[in-house]
Amino acid sequence: MLTSSLLKPITLKTRLVTEEMSFTAVSTDTRTITAGALFVPLIGERFNGHDYVLTAIQNGAVAALWEEGQPLPKELPSEFQLFMVKDTLYALQEMASAYRKKVNPKVIGITGSNGKTTTKDILASILSVKGETYKTQGNFNNHIGLPLTILGMPSTCEYLILEMGMSGFGEIERLSMIAEPDMALVTNIGESHMEQLGSRAGIAKAKMEIKEGLLAKGSLFVDSDEPLLRTWNDPCIVKVGFKEADLLIDHVTATETGYEFAIGNESYSLSMLGKHNVKNAAYCIAVAKNFGLSVEQIKKGLASLSLTSMRLERLTGNHGELIVNDAYNASPTSMIAAIEAIKMIPNYQKRVLVLGDMFELGSNEEALHKSVANVITEPITHIMTLGDRAKWIYEAILERKHESFQKVTHIETKQEAANHLKELVDNETVVLFKASRGMKLEEVITIYQDTKERG
Ligand code: ATP
Ligand code: MG
Repeated sequence: MLTSSLLKPITLKTRLVTEEMSFTAVSTDTRTITAGALFVPLIGERFNGHDYVLTAIQNGAVAALWEEGQPLPKELPSEFQLFMVKDTLYALQEMASAYRKKVNPKVIGITGSNGKTTTKDILASILSVKGETYKTQGNFNNHIGLPLTILGMPSTCEYLILEMGMSGFGEIERLSMIAEPDMALVTNIGESHMEQLGSRAGIAKAKMEIKEGLLAKGSLFVDSDEPLLRTWNDPCIVKVGFKEADLLIDHVTATETGYEFAIGNESYSLSMLGKHNVKNAAYCIAVAKNFGLSVEQIKKGLASLSLTSMRLERLTGNHGELIVNDAYNASPTSMIAAIEAIKMIPNYQKRVLVLGDMFELGSNEEALHKSVANVITEPITHIMTLGDRAKWIYEAILERKHESFQKVTHIETKQEAANHLKELVDNETVVLFKASRGMKLEEVITIYQDTKERG
């Protein structure tokens, strides 16, 4: 249970002399606050949560943290409790840390440039076979979201899976110190946040900060196929991957719906596209084995996967075509991974890529877009690009010296893309949709599916 005793070490003084209080939830947002909650007012660049305490009370809050020096509203209900602290954000994090120790589940911290959410979902599916599992909801993976996630876990939780995101040095270390994971994962190293971290090596170093909070007997699983991770040596590090791995993934075969693969003497099947997901699954198998799950339990968990939408999500279109919706987000690494996935699915005559802009790639964005063109080879048959940045991919394909058999089109609008698709697809077609979130590329799917119904 969430109780005021969690706050004891950091409370300067309280408004009322009370017995121990318990809260139904902890919230920083008055819009989603529920009856019986503790309100934590945070001070941001454009807002000060302390200004909204009366709204929080109206919406059901029974107590609030209060940062020293912030003016108090004139009229507070007499039964409303305040806990004075030096810094409300720090207090939120310390409370989370105390609650983590009190509930004491097995904690798994997941970071990496790509694959955090997917791996979290796969792991949750497996660990729920053995015990009560709670995981990061949505993208609550930063210095505010992670403590809120921890504070949201039921007091009966046995496995807590935490996604850890970052945009600069020191952030993962802090998250890891709060979470104190029993097991940790660095799924891969990509290119996002290059601006703040300088280089891919900088990104790797920042992700490896997850080691700092790892418990003494914990293990850290990392991508053995990434040279920037392979070179780390520490007794807690276990390298997982397709080559030079401590835990080698072997005999990988693509099937109509996903993959079959082996780890040691055990073979597994996964109904997800994308070879990178085989690795994500392997991390989860490694963690589950460490927690004592049997191979049968792991297989049962893998079979009951329910994944977050728009991540290599498979849909059947109106003409029997396979639509692969990976429009949730994109970076060069994940775009390349998705294209490789499309190339590996057996038995399709036409393989169509609908690619949109990738954002936040820094000054190297043109070269990074162009690098994607290198993997756009046989058996891909059609490529459509949408957006000013994606146009670089189109240009890179046109600049190729050798004759290209592929049909490459740069498209100006979503409607135009939808019209093209309508002409093109049949039941022997697979279409990939991939772009950064800001492109909302999934709208093309909605438009062309509707268009076809009318047509
Ligand atoms: P975000 O930081 O946006 O929350 P995330 O790390 O949670 O991202 P996911 O949402 O799981 O990542 O996946 C994002 C994309 O990365 C997917 O589109 C998928 O194609 C790709 N991806 C997933 N796992 C890997 C991996 N191990 N290596 C490379 N790419 C991957
Ligand atoms: Mg995520």
